[in-house]
Amino acid sequence: MSHPSNPFLNLNYEPAIESLADYHDVVTAAEFPMHKLRWRNDDILPVLGLNPSQVSDDDFIEAFGHFQAVHPFLALRYHGYQFGEYNPQLGDGRGFIYGQVRGIDGELYDFGTKGSGRTPYSRSADGRLTLKGGVREIIASEALHRMGVKTSRCLSLVETGEDLWRGDEPSPTRSSVMVRFSRSHIRFGNFERLRWIRRADLTRQLLDHVLQIYYPQFWGKENQDGIFYLELVQRVATLCAQWMAAGFCHAVLNTDNMSITGESFDYGPFAFIPNYDPRFTAAYFDHAGRYSYANQPAACYWNLEKLQDPLSMVMDKDDMQASLLKFKDFYRVAYCEMMLKRLGFATLSEPETEDLIGATLELLSGVQAIGYNQFFVKLRQSFQTNWREDASNIFAKHDWEITDEQLPLLEKWRVVYHQLLIRQPIAELENIAQQLQQSNPTIIFLRPKIEEIWERITVDDDWQPLYDAIAKLKE
Ligand code: AMP
Ligand code: MG
Repeated sequence: MSHPSNPFLNLNYEPAIESLADYHDVVTAAEFPMHKLRWRNDDILPVLGLNPSQVSDDDFIEAFGHFQAVHPFLALRYHGYQFGEYNPQLGDGRGFIYGQVRGIDGELYDFGTKGSGRTPYSRSADGRLTLKGGVREIIASEALHRMGVKTSRCLSLVETGEDLWRGDEPSPTRSSVMVRFSRSHIRFGNFERLRWIRRADLTRQLLDHVLQIYYPQFWGKENQDGIFYLELVQRVATLCAQWMAAGFCHAVLNTDNMSITGESFDYGPFAFIPNYDPRFTAAYFDHAGRYSYANQPAACYWNLEKLQDPLSMVMDKDDMQASLLKFKDFYRVAYCEMMLKRLGFATLSEPETEDLIGATLELLSGVQAIGYNQFFVKLRQSFQTNWREDASNIFAKHDWEITDEQLPLLEKWRVVYHQLLIRQPIAELENIAQQLQQSNPTIIFLRPKIEEIWERITVDDDWQPLYDAIAKLKE
């Protein structure tokens, strides 16, 4: 069965991680009883130099359902700290690198599978992905991408016709296989494994690989390792700030879910927070709230600190610790930038920034009836040039249930926002309206919304609500 005309089989693949021994096992893909293409991400195709109209659904199914390919499949070897406990028995248990490909932007990307069958790391599990899990990962990554978060995307989702049994879904439940498009699948945990097996030589080699491919600007520079770690601290702090501003709770910030490129990926029991509640926890099994919404910066910091253990086999630990101390500042800068944008501003002075974000969080934590993301949607939809004329025009019509005691919080917000507007030239108001539109998609994927989309799929096999919801992100 050779299909030389399939554009996915003729891409510019580069056997990057494949060219190194010791970091992977060659595996095979499962054979599935059914192949129905449920999602194709045409937005990604141009990055691969492909025109969506020239890529058929069958091309997707051949490559990412039947797994025809031009390179061996590689299950990566990794360990990780899961909820603070070291686990040396991880690794790609239900996925592999299908191939690595050079995009037209010059960057190297991974096609990584999820749900493609058992591997030496599956332990007692089935190597499969539930269809609902696939749908949820599409939603998380598309929504985050739209909100300016650096994230992996789903290239394809194929339904595969098996019955799966899961404790967290009514079972039997439907099966699927996903192909994820990301910068890298090298995790902090890939380095942690190398410390466990005491291999400084392999650590050096993997670090060189990461530098050459993902941090080429530092490769060969004096103190390349130190600047790499500092850059990683900044990237992870920035990513975390992006989640926080988006109101996103990842739920499983284990070190095996942290990418060495500082990109967000691997979406399991994630949730968007319904309202501003720092203690919100997304995973039902996270009893201690280790990965609650507000603990995410601390969890990312902890993960970066743990990464120093393997890296210190080849680089200076004190230097890394000094870089890590900058996490807080990097985080703050990125968080303010994201929040200002969501509030309509490209930049403001430091005191203005403090005032505006402070008043916003006070309002959103004090009035739980105003949903977190709903607030930003309402801001986008209500903003008018007459807000600059009088503070009372601001949110003049709203349907929030606000008690008399809570009213001062809204009043304060109005005053702060109004003061900022009158300091802007009138011509700037158009830019604010545009910024609000750019940073605040009108569709919010709270859990009931996702369940509603899933319900249509399970009850009537109706996929249109999913496609419509994703399309709405473009507005
Ligand atoms: P996750 O919670 O998805 O980040 O996965 C944690 C670990 O469990 C990784 O090693 C996964 O490969 C593995 N894993 C999760 N689900 C399955 C499954 N259904 N079959 C095999 N391995 C799995
Ligand atoms: Mg994972």
